[in-house]
Amino acid sequence: MSLIIDRKEYKNLTEIESFNPADLSKLGSVSVFDEKMVNDTVQKAKHTFYSWSNITWEERAKYILKAKDYILKNIDHIAEVITKENGKPLVESVTAEILPVLDLMLHYGKNKAEIITKEEINLGKWSLLNKSSYIEYKPLGVIGVISPWNYPFSIPMGQIITALITGNTVVLKPSEQTSLIGVEIENIFKGIDLPEGVFNLVTGFGETGGFLVKSSVNKIFFTGSVATGKRIMASASENLTPVVLELGGKDPMIVCEDVNIDIVSSGAVWGAFTNSGQVCASVERLYVHENIADEFTYEVVKKTKKLKQGNGLDKNNDLGPMISIEQMGIVQSHLDDAISRGAKILSGGERNTALEGFFFKPTILTNVDHSFKVVSEETFGPVLPIMTYKNVEDVIKLANDSKYALTASVWSNNINKAEKIAKKIEAGTVSINDCISTFALCQTPWGGPKESGIGRTHGKIGVLEFLEAKHIHTDKGTYMKKFWWFGYDSNRFDMMKKSLNILYNPINSISSVPDLIKEFMKNKVL
Ligand code: NAD
Repeated sequence: MSLIIDRKEYKNLTEIESFNPADLSKLGSVSVFDEKMVNDTVQKAKHTFYSWSNITWEERAKYILKAKDYILKNIDHIAEVITKENGKPLVESVTAEILPVLDLMLHYGKNKAEIITKEEINLGKWSLLNKSSYIEYKPLGVIGVISPWNYPFSIPMGQIITALITGNTVVLKPSEQTSLIGVEIENIFKGIDLPEGVFNLVTGFGETGGFLVKSSVNKIFFTGSVATGKRIMASASENLTPVVLELGGKDPMIVCEDVNIDIVSSGAVWGAFTNSGQVCASVERLYVHENIADEFTYEVVKKTKKLKQGNGLDKNNDLGPMISIEQMGIVQSHLDDAISRGAKILSGGERNTALEGFFFKPTILTNVDHSFKVVSEETFGPVLPIMTYKNVEDVIKLANDSKYALTASVWSNNINKAEKIAKKIEAGTVSINDCISTFALCQTPWGGPKESGIGRTHGKIGVLEFLEAKHIHTDKGTYMKKFWWFGYDSNRFDMMKKSLNILYNPINSISSVPDLIKEFMKNKVL
């Protein structure tokens, strides 16, 4: 069987063939949705929005909790589908894909308070005029979710569940590389008899995603590359469709000299190589204090060489294949650039040709700096460049010297020191003594500034992304004309001037209150 499968070959087909990247066996196929099929699906979701948004939170929560139980009953099957199509080891299909989804379902299914529905506003001085205000948070309508292949279950499911519990309906376009996992998501909702049209699936390549962006959806939640994110934002601007963009990362790990080297080196190996390094938040730049650099690097290399690589279906393997030949090509090009400029490869550095699929050996390299692609561009593969630093100020500058700012990690037993560093790092999330894992904490926001994207998912801020803030303002009765209505004259001008002084500098202007009352008496509103 050929080792070269270029999925682009299938671009003009009406079906997408799905492969197992570990052994290149065919898994099945799905249809490619054209523009009419996408628009019809969005219309179906719009039609169902009215009934779904009008049932109570408790009724929606029942469906979410039913889906949680369905997933729990089918863990083996779902994990296998994820591992077969995406390649990650079965253990990761459970820990990084299924666990975060179950936790999120339980959280939103049980915590109504998280789903912000009404918020009173303190109007300050204006409440003296018998005024009151509140915000009612309403679902947006149809949410378009466009998702990547690297976490093909947990990323879209987090967005789908938050959309559904807040009363929205959903159209999902999974990555063409992991369409069958999209079908599995559809099976879950079919399996719990979710009303027809509440969750909808459209499959296809980028073009199908483009049709979804151009359709009449009310918001797009996109997770993927920066280049596609920019295209989506440009296209969405034509209809003023709002977007949340969860894009790339080049996340730094800073290791202070006081750490337990055995423990933190294990963290670095996992942070760099979990999911074969195909993680937006994986450790892609490691900065270790020069006093411990040799010992730390030795441990990282030693542990990396012990990693077992192979088919993810074998529960003993630590590392599965990469997703595609194209993704391996990006990794190889970053390494070629580094090697040509004097980088030293301490482990790996090439494709693992002993295995049939898209396997790339976990790679550690040193003698690199920020002018190398492997340090400045997103590699998105099993590659860890290690650099050293002398002092905290230098390492903060290095960590911030990136166009990305998704997550970062600082490792130290001196929490005060670590927090001081964390506060100066530009990133959506900075973890102290851990990395990547906050994606699984659905209570905390996910996303970052710079080219890492726009908006957040998860946490209260993430929930608000699925809601429209509608302001209801009440003046309690029609007993008085407003002082700002027509009937302007010089008396009104003087009265307003005095009022402003009394309101905004009362200590100096209290003596003018009697005059003001007189002017109020003379004031005539049309
Ligand atoms: P990608 O941008 O190639 O594709 C993502 C999705 O967009 C796919 O479903 C694809 O079909 C669709 N798409 C492609 N072109 C489109 C277009 N013109 N209009 C609409 N949809 C289109 O990304 P990928 O290779 O699947 O994922 C890898 C990237 O995702 C990496 O850069 C990674 O950092 C990023 N990522 C970010 C996060 C995060 O939370 N910030 C999480 C996971 C992955």
